Amino acid sequence: MKRNSIYLVMISICLLFPLIAYGQNILIKNATVMTAANGTKANTDILVRNGKITRVGKNLSAGNARVIDASGKYVTPGIIDAHSHAMLDSVNEISYAVTSMARIRDVLNPTDITIYRALGGGVTAANLMHGSANPIGGLNTVVKFKYGRPIEEFLIPEAPPGIKFAMGENVKRARNAPGQPRRYPATRMGTLETMRDAFVRARDYKKSWEKYRAGKTKVPPKRSVELEPIVEVLEGKRLVHAHGYRSDEHLNLMKLANEFGFTVSTLQHGLEAYKIAPEIAKYKTGVSIFVDYWGYKMEAYDTIPHNAYILWKNGVLVSINSDSGERIRRLNLDAAKAIKYGGVPEEEALKMITLNPAKQLGIDKMTGSVEVGKDADLAIWSGHPFSVYTKAETTIIDGEIFFDRNADISKRSDLETERKRLEKLEANLPPNKRGKAGKKDSKPKPKPTQKTKAAGGIK
Ligand SMILES: [Zn+2]
Repeated sequence: MKRNSIYLVMISICLLFPLIAYGQNILIKNATVMTAANGTKANTDILVRNGKITRVGKNLSAGNARVIDASGKYVTPGIIDAHSHAMLDSVNEISYAVTSMARIRDVLNPTDITIYRALGGGVTAANLMHGSANPIGGLNTVVKFKYGRPIEEFLIPEAPPGIKFAMGENVKRARNAPGQPRRYPATRMGTLETMRDAFVRARDYKKSWEKYRAGKTKVPPKRSVELEPIVEVLEGKRLVHAHGYRSDEHLNLMKLANEFGFTVSTLQHGLEAYKIAPEIAKYKTGVSIFVDYWGYKMEAYDTIPHNAYILWKNGVLVSINSDSGERIRRLNLDAAKAIKYGGVPEEEALKMITLNPAKQLGIDKMTGSVEVGKDADLAIWSGHPFSVYTKAETTIIDGEIFFDRNADISKRSDLETERKRLEKLEANLPPNKRGKAGKKDSKPKPKPTQKTKAAGGIK
């Protein structure tokens, strides 16, 4: 039984992390390279050394690098999802209206299968966000999807920290359902007031620390883990990603930010953003949208699939996000729709899932395009990435292969055999089919006495 348990653990590890190849130098040969920075290059090689793109050109020599023949295939930067809840054990700290003290970093689950599926869609990085129940929610974390590695290796230390804001229906209805204790705010006006109040308190808190540091007061102010992140927003050190649908709410938020002297990094969802595209451009705010998904609640009705095109045409930095463990697998096709509806140029559409989200997350110096000196975060596709017939074949992060479609396929029958064997193990059988121990378990339980019933009631 003990040996079986050890075997079980070993097999589980193999099942979870089956396809990872570490620490290789790679030469990708003869691909069509869509750079998301300098156009598309036919019959081009990419040399990867020590996790970085070191050369992009023709007829490069491999040296000691592993060669991947990409003839007839396409290479793009790895896709970056600016709005994801993958890997999260909890999403909404719903209790207070302002929960800037809660950190997404503390609830990351590195074994979430969503990560592996996202890799299978060419995704290499994501902005993992708190939910939308609070006007000011928790602190975000930007990660690379290094499936199979410890959490510490997922984190991108250079990524500026972020925070989630939210407006509209999700905030209003949080804890305001019949029979539940009510929570302020219950209206859109209350939501904006909650934000203003937090910024007033943060400004005062900042001043009190400045006074203390300047020696004007002797006693240090009491630390506030709630207000410290909001002070960072005021100082331009923390990026605000603000959930919302209606254009009037987004406009109100950008005015509030202007009043307090900071810029909102992204309007998340922004289904009505096309109505205020010039204003968004004026406030230098980005927008991260679904390309053609709407109608799932009242505030999500008034949009058009040309949203991306109109925003882009007005000079707004646009990204297309998933907000979903399912859509994250096919963001390449969502980008293609930006071409279909309005006619966003091909490279600009590709940027909406690569370089633009990298800019919105403050990681564009290191990733988001195929350029010499950047991290080797790449996806190799079986054909043009905007075709429905195309599949991501290889996904590379920092020069290491984290998804290989062929390796995945060749392992499937072995894994199936393993699964069947494991299902027959004593420990995995239902109690009534087990041996001695199982028979003991399957004995009918005694009916609860009056005493045990009462105890259950108190719980
Ligand atoms: Zn979300």
